[in-house]
Amino acid sequence: MRYVSTRGEDLGSGFREILLGGLMGDGGLAMPVRYPQLSLADLQAMQQMNYRELAFAVLRLFVDDMPEGELQRLIEKTYTAEVYSNGRVAGEAEAIAPVRELEAGVWLLELSNGPTLAFKDMAMQLLGNMFEWALEQNGETLNILGATSGDTGSSAEYAMRGKRGIRVFMLSPHGKMSAFQTAQMFSLLDENIHNLAVRGVFDDCQDIVKAVSNDLEFKSRYRIGTVNSINWARVVAQVVYYFKGYFAVAQEVGATVSFAVPSGNFGNICAGHIAKMMGLPIHRLILATNENDVLDEFFRTGVYRPRVTAETRQTSSPSMDISKASNFERFVYDLLGRDAGLVRELWKQVDTQGFFDLRGTAEWEGIGQFGFVSGVSTHCNRLDTIRLVWERYGLVVDPHTADGLKVGMEFREEGVPLVCLETALPAKFEETIQEALGRAPERPLQYAGIEDAPKRSVVVDADVEVVKDYIRLNAE
Ligand SMILES: *Cc1c(COP(=O)(O)O)cnc(C)c1O
Repeated sequence: MRYVSTRGEDLGSGFREILLGGLMGDGGLAMPVRYPQLSLADLQAMQQMNYRELAFAVLRLFVDDMPEGELQRLIEKTYTAEVYSNGRVAGEAEAIAPVRELEAGVWLLELSNGPTLAFKDMAMQLLGNMFEWALEQNGETLNILGATSGDTGSSAEYAMRGKRGIRVFMLSPHGKMSAFQTAQMFSLLDENIHNLAVRGVFDDCQDIVKAVSNDLEFKSRYRIGTVNSINWARVVAQVVYYFKGYFAVAQEVGATVSFAVPSGNFGNICAGHIAKMMGLPIHRLILATNENDVLDEFFRTGVYRPRVTAETRQTSSPSMDISKASNFERFVYDLLGRDAGLVRELWKQVDTQGFFDLRGTAEWEGIGQFGFVSGVSTHCNRLDTIRLVWERYGLVVDPHTADGLKVGMEFREEGVPLVCLETALPAKFEETIQEALGRAPERPLQYAGIEDAPKRSVVVDADVEVVKDYIRLNAE
């Protein structure tokens, strides 16, 4: 498979070349030159597959520059009951990404059984194994630099810990993550994991990462890479669980199913869009946002108006507090019939006037074929949903999943199974569960007492030079 940029560049790159990269040279995002198409017969052949077999069947369509045996080996190493058990489904490899029926026609797709209790582990664990393999092949090493407000950083660290040829330098705002998230990250004592607690806020961390990445000399000398959400391999690895969810609930192969997705950077739901483009019979992709509703506004009105950072609100679903969804450009590229010139033009408009407006265009008129609908939740809605789900189904869900359930239910349709994606376990967000239910959520065994475990981190000033010095001293 060849990859092109949403802004028009065609480097003829294969999967391995874009695996370790972020933005393309022209500022766009990598996309496969076309989507592999699956027929009804192809889908029927996949119906009985377990997660590993599905992952291989889907990923091999996008990866043709890695020996198939190698891809299979990495998939088998990644998707094991040991990695994705979390105490809930121990011992059953077939139960990776299981569905749970909440009531007739409504399902929860459990994606948070990985090491850090969030769906990001589904793709990030595979990414860690792919990175290790690719670096070894090329005889290279990599220093991953990232900024996190919680979920991404821990997911990346748990995926990269102990990997040969990889070091991780993760910046987080000092004293601003939840106690659980802090403990989860800082209790990793692996030699190749470096936690830098920055005296500042998340944006300071992100600014430092950008400044270091823009220093091309430093970047190439210290082989700096990223694992952010625009990484194509992360997106494509997420396509797999839409197939898993579909086959688990579809009345018959060919019947349609809808998915509700709590969204921030548009990475998770972008994978659903790709699954649909490949021919998986998805009826609706229900996009749920919190009070940061840029994407909901677009799907309701046709106007895309990303907010400036200062307008981003801090909510009880913090992993969705995003004002500029980095993967959204991938969908817009498809919406515009893959016209890269038009994508460039629209993003120029965002830079100069702060928005673009598709109302009245043929593209906007045709958006229905993509199946997207959207809605929002407020803090109150999420608390209500957490209570309702507990009372009705005896299940505690986290505030992000609650957001998806709330919006998903609004778009529920008779005769179409609805799959709501679980994006984190409630244990990660104790404060909100306490507020909703008056008690703390259960915590998986491996995290019992984690706040008291030995920890390793360094506190640094929000200063690019300080971070660079630290990397110089500790780089691989
Ligand atoms: C990252 C995250 C999201 C948002 O996913 P995107 O791919 O950025 O849209 C939602 N919920 C949780 C718990 C997350 O960690």
